[in-house]
Amino acid sequence: MLRKARIGPSKMLSYGRVIGRLPKLTRHSHANHFCRPLKYVGIVSVHNLWYSSSSNDKKIYRAPGTTIKPEECVPESTYSKPKRPVPFCESQPNASCPPSCYEVCGKPDDSEKPSDKKPPPQHWKILATLLIAGVTLYAISSSSWFSTKKSDSQKAVSKSKKDEKKRKRALDKIKTPPTSNLIPSEIPYLLIGGGTAAFSAFRSIKSRDPRAKVLVISDEGDLPYMRPPLSKELWYNRDRKTTAQLLFKQWNGAQRSVFYEPPEFYTQIKSLSNSEKGGVSVATGWRVKKIDVPNKLVILDDGYQIKYDKCLIATGASPKNLPVFETMQDELKEKIITFRTKHDFLYLEDIVHNPKCKNVVIIGGGFLGSELACSLARNLSGDKKVYQVYKEKFIMDQVLPQYLSEWATKKAISEGVQCISSSEVEDYSYKNGKLSLVLSDNQIVDADQVIVAVGVEPNTDLAHVSQLETDHEIGGFLVNAELEARSNLWVAGDAACFYDVKLGRRRVEHHDHAVVSGRLAGENMTGARKPYLHQSMFWSDLGPEVGYEAIGIVDSSLPTVGVFVKSSESDNKVQSVRNTHETTQVSDKKNSRSSPQGDAKSESDDTKVCRDDDPKPADKPEVYDDFGKGVVFYLRDDIVVGIVLWNIFNRMPVARQVLARGTKYDDLNEVAKLFTIHDD
Ligand SMILES: Cc1cc2nc3c(=O)[nH]c(=O)nc-3n(C[C@H](O)[C@H](O)[C@H](O)COP(=O)(O)OP(=O)(O)OC[C@H]3O[C@@H](n4cnc5c(N)ncnc54)[C@H](O)[C@@H]3O)c2cc1C
Repeated sequence: MLRKARIGPSKMLSYGRVIGRLPKLTRHSHANHFCRPLKYVGIVSVHNLWYSSSSNDKKIYRAPGTTIKPEECVPESTYSKPKRPVPFCESQPNASCPPSCYEVCGKPDDSEKPSDKKPPPQHWKILATLLIAGVTLYAISSSSWFSTKKSDSQKAVSKSKKDEKKRKRALDKIKTPPTSNLIPSEIPYLLIGGGTAAFSAFRSIKSRDPRAKVLVISDEGDLPYMRPPLSKELWYNRDRKTTAQLLFKQWNGAQRSVFYEPPEFYTQIKSLSNSEKGGVSVATGWRVKKIDVPNKLVILDDGYQIKYDKCLIATGASPKNLPVFETMQDELKEKIITFRTKHDFLYLEDIVHNPKCKNVVIIGGGFLGSELACSLARNLSGDKKVYQVYKEKFIMDQVLPQYLSEWATKKAISEGVQCISSSEVEDYSYKNGKLSLVLSDNQIVDADQVIVAVGVEPNTDLAHVSQLETDHEIGGFLVNAELEARSNLWVAGDAACFYDVKLGRRRVEHHDHAVVSGRLAGENMTGARKPYLHQSMFWSDLGPEVGYEAIGIVDSSLPTVGVFVKSSESDNKVQSVRNTHETTQVSDKKNSRSSPQGDAKSESDDTKVCRDDDPKPADKPEVYDDFGKGVVFYLRDDIVVGIVLWNIFNRMPVARQVLARGTKYDDLNEVAKLFTIHDD
């Protein structure tokens, strides 16, 4: 039954960026690759597609504005809310609290304890009293001394606040265990990096080899956690106490933590080698600096060596900064941050709620920048302003067809974001503690906090020293279709440049890819020898009401056909179809044959066809509700190579099948019906 879309607007899905060699794909005739049906899909007819969509999709549901469909993206967690806040030092599996004075200094010498000796003679008491009185009188009389001391103590307070901040930061990088000789020197399974791909790998290793001993080395100070809620759900909740515990509402309304597993799940490092049941241990705050591949050794930053049987590189990616900020003075480093980690989230959450922080500037018009801008604008109230500066005309311009990215920009503005388009940061000034950004059009924006969200680059520092190959064009460790870089060495997640047997060399920066490639690497580490055939999806949300999911090659430079249900229409009324300029051209060519995009049919079926010369959307996205929900098809050589599901969820299996079919569709309007858009 058609449910009226609550928000006139639409939803999109997908997140991150798929990086591929598009020119090469074109050269190699993408169509041919797609024409071979994927073994695991086995689509025979449209009827199958329909059937499959309705049977599979009902089981899982990602509500708008929620991060995770657990069955598809995130293995289940055993997390339960801790009853009391656990001190950091206790929360780690190999907890090592700072040593007590007793441990460091040994027991105090009994001879120095107060004893039952007789009290000192009376004249000592008189002398002490006189001394104290003298000092007190001197202090009162020398008022200047007194006042100096007072301001010193104020300074000491603010210094101690700064120290506290620094201490918190340092704590995030605390090494657990504190010395490397407590880490096993030999291990069957070693995972480098403690992010999503590593988490997914150890789950799959343990499910295939329950007694496996797995050691994770992570240079973050935390146990594995998921990143998507850091720019979305964690901001939707205004209860800062819950947020401070990194708890958020997931797809089914239940609260969960960003941590995949609670500390109790992990085996203490010191017990791992001798554990009969095996287990997973995480050494946090430790960095791998080299892999000696022939000798199967991993070398840590302090030179400690660990021998492995099988090793996974899951080092992920790091955010890029803008060259203009790269040489900034230390004082500014906290005012201009990138955003990737749990620590970045907690830092930003703290800063933006400081009454002194009035202007927050986000640089970048991609997923992360747009999500953060919408989340912050929604979360912050009063006189705080959230600016988003980006060089494109509209946000998410590289992924969405122009009309949708224009709509999304209007949506962001209606959320309270001050969008500054077609602009780049050229310079900055910092005077009397005030930071101002100088933009390309000489516009000046004052900024109390800047977040740079201009993309990431894969962490491949290990490659050169370890004699591993990387891809010069798209980055990442080169691996084959089984995700293997060398014998006994695999790579998964953002850092892998893998061979996609359908699409050629690719690197993907998505959560779903990290989960599935991590899982496959884990399987292959235990002997499965399977190729990576998964077409990963991604998603993005503009606040809790608008979201989209995407799959395949979702590149706004491709021709697209969008089929949307108007939020006010009834079930049987079909959709409005909107072609991008490029698609119109394709359609035109096709019209002489059979109008593969179904334009003519659509019009005769009372479906609204929006063309490029349509009137401009109204200022408020709510008014222009043509994009309530729908499907956007991305075409290459008239074949669907990418799909965006806008404000509709649970249809990813259908999208996968449409992509895998790799044929020309006579009427995309009909294909859109497979997604039962009006059923939500
Ligand atoms: C704020 C945010 C929101 C996002 N939202 C979405 C979303 O909505 N949808 C989506 O599909 N994707 C999203 N992503 C992207 C997704 O989170 C990433 O694609 C995913 O985390 C990649 O997982 P990974 O395991 O490959 O790398 P990571 O999660 O980056 O983990 C890599 C780990 O390895 C560590 N490491 C690196 N080098 C070393 C070394 N030499 N030694 C030891 N440890 C090392 C790193 O410190 C890090 O902890 C988001 C990302 C961010 C930052």
